[in-house]
Amino acid sequence: MSEVDCNVVLERLWIFLDGEADEAMCRELEAHIEACLHCRNHADFERRLRAVIQVKCRGERAPLALRAALDRLLSGSQ
Ligand SMILES: [Zn+2]
Repeated sequence: MSEVDCNVVLERLWIFLDGEADEAMCRELEAHIEACLHCRNHADFERRLRAVIQVKCRGERAPLALRAALDRLLSGSQ
């Protein structure tokens, strides 16, 4: 039996996917995700979402352009 419930898993899912959960938490979350279809679907979705976000953000130069625009804005408004 797992000690964590779905709400706890979903709350910690991003920490877990970021690899920032400690070992004990990882094991609990993994065990729950293995056993719980709802959380497994959710984890799959989040993983795919993160992959898409990473590809999109890497493929475009928007963050750099945005930073340059912000720099201009900040120095211009002084
Ligand atoms: Zn669950």
